[in-house]
Amino acid sequence: MAELNLVLLGPPGSGKGTQGERLQEDLRLPYYATGDILRAAVRDETELGRTAKEYMDRGDLVPDEVIVATIAERVDSAEAADGFILDGFPRTVPQAEALDDKLSELGRSLSGVLLIDASDEEVQRRLGGRRTCVENGHVFHVELNPPRQEGVCDLDGSELIVRDDDKPEVIAKRLETYHAKTEPLIDYYDRRSLLRRIDGAAPPDEVEDEVRRTLATLKMEQDAEL
Ligand SMILES: [Zn+2]
Repeated sequence: MAELNLVLLGPPGSGKGTQGERLQEDLRLPYYATGDILRAAVRDETELGRTAKEYMDRGDLVPDEVIVATIAERVDSAEAADGFILDGFPRTVPQAEALDDKLSELGRSLSGVLLIDASDEEVQRRLGGRRTCVENGHVFHVELNPPRQEGVCDLDGSELIVRDDDKPEVIAKRLETYHAKTEPLIDYYDRRSLLRRIDGAAPPDEVEDEVRRTLATLKMEQDAEL
């Protein structure tokens, strides 16, 4: 069986995290979400965490060399031998080039890039309404998934807050960064015939169906080439 090396692309809040987690269960491949890896590092106050926090608090991207080293280590691990799903990396063309270099060094290449797209307005609505519990990080949404009691976590009774990177001005900055630095990747992967577009504005189950159809086609094409 061919390995399946995937990248999920899309603006913050397009739902690619949700799709990534579903894909991980579906395909039984390791799912590497840069945001989760970095947030864990920040929480544990590792050296990576302290460096990353300064950038993340401003809504800026963490520097390439920090991210590339972190991701390369995971892609090169035994658990990723049959493939992997990357979310939040690469985020810039130089990162994509670094990933290509690393993979070809390992005799591998990307199988496909799934773009899960959403408009700026949709992103503001989804992220701006998010409330996170201080104790365990449980996530609610004022509109889409409200807690039973406003401002209180259903699961552990702790306070719900707006996480720093869900504040409107930080979302605006993240979108600006996405358009300037990440959007050029759409072209980069399209020219390499790796890009598959999926409408992230649809309900999660519909997006998931579309992802499955897209991957089935991708696998057929991949098998045909072998
Ligand atoms: Zn909670």
